[in-house]
Amino acid sequence: MKIICIGRNYVAHIKELSNEVPGEPVFFMKPDSSLLRNNDPFFIPEWTNDVHHEIELVLRISRLGKGIEKRFAHRYYQQIGLGIDFTARDVQNRLKEKGLPWEKAKAFDRAAVIGSSFLPAGDFPDLKNIEFRLDVNGKTVQSGNSGLMIYDFDDIVSYVSQFVTLKIGDLIYTGTPAGVGPVKTGDRLEGYLKDQKLLDFQVK
Ligand code: ZN
Repeated sequence: MKIICIGRNYVAHIKELSNEVPGEPVFFMKPDSSLLRNNDPFFIPEWTNDVHHEIELVLRISRLGKGIEKRFAHRYYQQIGLGIDFTARDVQNRLKEKGLPWEKAKAFDRAAVIGSSFLPAGDFPDLKNIEFRLDVNGKTVQSGNSGLMIYDFDDIVSYVSQFVTLKIGDLIYTGTPAGVGPVKTGDRLEGYLKDQKLLDFQVK
């Protein structure tokens, strides 16, 4: 399986990092070795001093597809989950300055946290009104709503599949809302989708 991540999909987050609003979706990938599951602890790598949390809604691809038309895109995911796209912001900023790829800052081990369970897409009355949030040490630091995404789920699935064949089990992280920030040793991170807690783990 592969992990596809959408960047710059919420205006408020684009502004907080002083980036430009993209004219089309921005995506990058993480390898399966970056997955962190079962609420296992996250270890901050020694080569970075600024790992940021990015809470994101995650689509699980349920059907093989390429070149998917937007009007059929909803047929390719049936489950929605919650994840964190950990980002070594200091490393990413250095790479961005040089115009180099971001992989090192995004694809490292344990950088793709995924919640223990997914919710059926059919459980959501409106896919454009899904609330989610991240609490750090009991305080809400990021709260998002899928209605604020520049590119919605169907846009993303259709766009990515023009370039990359989607396979069953692939995960698509759909971008983070505002409020990203550094994590430190000892932090407890709790992620909620609607009112369900799907993430609860420690930073070590
Ligand atoms: Zn992200």
